[in-house]
Amino acid sequence: MIILKKRKCPECSGEMTPRLINLLYKREHCDLQVEVIGIPANVCIKCFYRIIPGKIAKYIDSLVDPIFQSQINQEEMLLPAPHIDIQFPAIERERRSYSDAG
Ligand SMILES: [Zn+2]
Repeated sequence: MIILKKRKCPECSGEMTPRLINLLYKREHCDLQVEVIGIPANVCIKCFYRIIPGKIAKYIDSLVDPIFQSQINQEEMLLPAPHIDIQFPAIERERRSYSDAG
């Protein structure tokens, strides 16, 4: 489990705050979309610049990459490309550190 460190925004040096964000993953030449819900990230309160910890970004890539690969490898279009949601539940420890942060 990862705890987000407090840091300044690299874009505008504004205050950053830990948040759970949603991201839509897409790939070129692939109609499939994967929405990932509940990603812990630092979000700038001024310009909304977002930083996802590297380990978390890598982990999510390792989840969604095989889904895209499987879609790309389809030789025949059997069904329209699906929309896939991956949802991470909010956990107690995170909620606590979120309220500590502000
Ligand atoms: Zn900023």
